[in-house]
Amino acid sequence: MKKGIVVILSGASSVGKGAIREKLMADKEMNLFYSISETTRPKKEGEVDGVDYYFVDHKQFAESVKNKELLEYTEFNGYYYGTPKAQVDFLINKGKNVLIEVEAQGVGPIKLNIPDSIAFFVMPTSFEELEKQIHEIYKDDSASIERRLNKAKMDMEIAPLFKNIVYNDDPDKAVAEIKKIVMTEMEKRENA
Ligand code: 5GP
Repeated sequence: MKKGIVVILSGASSVGKGAIREKLMADKEMNLFYSISETTRPKKEGEVDGVDYYFVDHKQFAESVKNKELLEYTEFNGYYYGTPKAQVDFLINKGKNVLIEVEAQGVGPIKLNIPDSIAFFVMPTSFEELEKQIHEIYKDDSASIERRLNKAKMDMEIAPLFKNIVYNDDPDKAVAEIKKIVMTEMEKRENA
């Protein structure tokens, strides 16, 4: 059986990867399964353990790191996030395509572990636009705004390293661009 494709969706902090991810997941032609990350961040309202994330405490997260169970992990805004390796391996070995959504630092280690993965970087139309968005989401939390703006700046600096950059001004267009590349790769692997 042909192995599935690992699709990495990354981008500047708060750029709106979530909306693009939802649209990608809703498109059944791409046969995408979502890689559920482990995190020490508290559950937000409406989130479900084992669906949005595996919510774990620091001790459990440290165990996963120690046992080399994560493809990559990072600290973001005071919490840890990591991609469980077994889940990704299980799915691609069954020929399923996997969507991994990570902040920008997570991409390098995944590409190192899975060189034939395809990474997409979602960019805002402009930094000013992103700044406006971050202010809207985090309103009075100036420490959080500051941290996210700094992180977004850093993330955008590494954007040129990505072959596939998509802009979030039109999520449907971004999804269509990603889909085209994924479908072409699927065809290539079918015929290999
Ligand atoms: P949030 O707390 O808003 O759900 O996620 C914060 C950031 O962490 C987002 O940019 C999200 O894409 C990223 N993220 C989620 N899971 C992982 C992961 O397993 N690894 C890495 N490196 N980043 C992740």
